[in-house]
Formats: sequence, C-alpha cells, structure tokens
Amino acid sequence: MELLGEFNLTDKMQWNETKMAYYSKGKGLYEFGTPISLLKYKPLTFIEKIKFGISIIKIKLIKNYKKLEKITAEEWIKKNCGEAVYEKIWEPLLITKFGNQKNEVSMAWLWGKINLRSSSSTANGEKLGYLDGSFEVLTKKIETFLVENNCKFKMHTNVTQVLKEGEKYIVKTDSNEEKYDFVISTVSYDISRKILKEVLTDEESRKMKALKYTSAKTLLMYSKKQLTPFYWINIGDTQIPFGGIIEHTNMINSEKYNGTHIIYISNYMDKSDKLYQLDAEQLFDVYYKDLKKMNNHLEKEDILQVQCFEEEYAQPIITTNYSNKVLDVQLEEKGIYMANMAQIYPEDRGINYAIKMGYEVAQKIINNKEVNK
Ligand SMILES: Cc1cc2nc3c(=O)[nH]c(=O)nc-3n(C[C@H](O)[C@H](O)[C@H](O)COP(=O)(O)OP(=O)(O)OC[C@H]3O[C@@H](n4cnc5c(N)ncnc54)[C@H](O)[C@@H]3O)c2cc1C
Repeated sequence: MELLGEFNLTDKMQWNETKMAYYSKGKGLYEFGTPISLLKYKPLTFIEKIKFGISIIKIKLIKNYKKLEKITAEEWIKKNCGEAVYEKIWEPLLITKFGNQKNEVSMAWLWGKINLRSSSSTANGEKLGYLDGSFEVLTKKIETFLVENNCKFKMHTNVTQVLKEGEKYIVKTDSNEEKYDFVISTVSYDISRKILKEVLTDEESRKMKALKYTSAKTLLMYSKKQLTPFYWINIGDTQIPFGGIIEHTNMINSEKYNGTHIIYISNYMDKSDKLYQLDAEQLFDVYYKDLKKMNNHLEKEDILQVQCFEEEYAQPIITTNYSNKVLDVQLEEKGIYMANMAQIYPEDRGINYAIKMGYEVAQKIINNKEVNK
C-alpha cells in the first residue's frame, strides 16, 4: 500500500469479500474458511471440527514462529488436531503443493500461511485486494519512474555470469558485458548459484544447492459460464490432478470482461511430471472431467479459450530449521545481494513480500554506500 501511495495508485486498490471452498474426496464441494462454514462442513465429525478450530486459534496465538521451526507441519498437526484432521484436510493440501516432499515441510511455513490468510478473514469469508488493471499497472509506473531516473532495462537478456574485477563486478549476458558497483540477484537460488559461482563462498554455494523447489503449471480458462460461486477452491482429493481453482470473476465482476468468466487452475508439480509437458488444450482435456465435478453443467463448448503458464522455481520447499538454511540478503562478498522468493521467510512468498524485500535491499545498499563514503 505504501508503494501504491508513492505512485498515486491507492484508489486503484479494490477490497473485495471472497468465498473459499474445499473439495473433499468422496464428499464434494463445501464452503470453507469461516466459523459458520466449519460447523456445516460434513467431512469432519463434530469433535474433529472442534480440534481443527482450536488448532487454528492456537496457531494464531503463537507470536514467535521460531518455536515451530524445528517441527514439521505433519508432526504439529497430528499432535494438535489428530490423525483424522490431518488426513482429511491438511495432508491433501500439502501433497498438492509439495508432492512427496510434504512431510519435510516446516510448521513455520504453515504458521506463516495461516496467519497471513486469517488476517484477511471476515465473518463472511476473506477480504482480498485487487489492483484494478492487475499488477501491470504498478510495474509500468515503476518502469517509467526508473527510466526517467536514468535506469536502463535490458529486456529478454539472459545474465550468464558475474565476476569480480577490483572493486567492480562484471556482469556478463548473452550478448555483452558491463561493470557495476553492486549486483542484486532476484532469480532463484538454483540460477543464482550458477551465475554467481565465482563470487560465492563454499558455504553459500552449498546452501543454495541444498534448497529444493516445486514447479507450477497454471491453466487459464476463459469461460461463457461461471464454474462455481467460490473465488478460491482448495482440492482435497489427490485423485484430481490439480490443486486449486481460482475464479477471478468471483472477485471482480465478469461484466468487466464482457461477461467472460476467468478461471485459473493451479497445479504444483515436479517439472518431470508428464502434465508439465502438455500444452493448454491437452491440459484442459485432462482436467475437464474433474472440472465437471465442480459444476456438472460445464460443457467443453463453454470454454472460449485456454492458455497455460509454467514456472520452474515456483515454490521453495521450506523445511525445518529454515532460518539456518536461508542466506542473508547481503552475501559475504559485500557488493552482492540476494532478494528472491526463497529469502521470504517465515511468510509465504508473495508479491507483497517481494516489494518489502526490495525496500530492505535498497536500504542496505544505501547504508553501505554511506559507510564507504
Ligand atoms: C502459481 C503461483 C501463484 C502465485 N500467486 C500469488 C498471489 O496470488 N499473490 C501474490 O502476491 N503472489 C503470488 N505468487 C508469488 C509471486 O508470483 C512471487 O512472489 C513474485 O513473482 C516474486 O517476484 P520476483 O520478481 O522476486 O520473481 P519472479 O517473478 O520469479 O521474477 C524473476 C525473473 O527473473 C528472470 N530470470 C531468470 N533467470 C534469469 C537470468 N539468467 N537472467 C535474467 N533474468 C532471469 C525470470 O524470467 C523472471 O522474469 C504466486 C506464485 C506462483 C508460482
């Protein structure tokens, strides 16, 4: 919000109440995420609902995530909610995001996720912010401001290597090389490790190599029909080959898009997964029969267009004792900074935190320049 204010975009942020649902294996689609919906949620017994509700309150009351760092989410949930709640609610969600590495995920990650989402909760659901016109409105403003202040963007240019020469850093790209005073790497650890090989310590390189990511593939559908009334559906059925459905036009009225409904199907997976290799039409064909489980009236002809997007380094796997595994934003080599999604902790990665980290790195560089004056 602070950054939006700097660019006079505060009025563009719309706050909308949205509804969340959970698709439970064999039981179907249920509204989820409010105390009332929990009471009506049939897949859990009364006792399980109480245990689930208490555990969420307990998590919200924990102020210091450090206590949760040493324990996995699986261990904490089983201890605090019991096996049944773990198997019915949390395990399918952990599987859809982390696959077979689900039992390595730290409770500190889940704490960050629950705290973030519950801070946006209202009695009716969740209140989420949407920047009218999408984040592009903000990135365009930032770009214009930077260009006016003599910054240069080199689009579609691959950085291949960073070397040190005296007090300067040589940044090599596909096409040329240039010298700089500072380097901020905002790409994944995996890519950074290769680019920065010559300036990293062995320990930094080891830490970067140890961190694993899951990849993601998102299918975007333009539909004549609304799929469901929910903005966000978590899929708690591992037989269904995707993990979430986000229906954008249940937050922003479809009239804005000439009556077209915009639906994202999110799916985290290993990049070796055969679904990762499919194009949008093929992916839609695989997903169609399960999409019909959400709305039996959905016909193939209702879908006007499909597109898909991949991200190899979509979600760092936040394992136990992560604060010892993650690197500081400033590396041993004083002019090199890291600001990527793996650095965001204990909160879950998100654009909000990427911006916050941008401020943090900028401030460190300003401070270092002051010291070196
Ligand atoms: C499926 C999914 C859903 C998400 N949903 C949300 C959400 O609803 N809300 C939210 O706030 N956040 C969400 N996020 C997280 C959000 O996308 C990230 O936090 C954000 O994109 C991080 O921005 P970034 O600039 O740090 O990294 P990125 O957006 O990953 O940008 C890194 C850039 O570096 C480029 N690059 C890579 N290698 C090189 C190289 N060698 N040389 C030059 N450039 C290179 C890449 O092409 C990329 O453009 C989601 C993420 C995923 C994967």
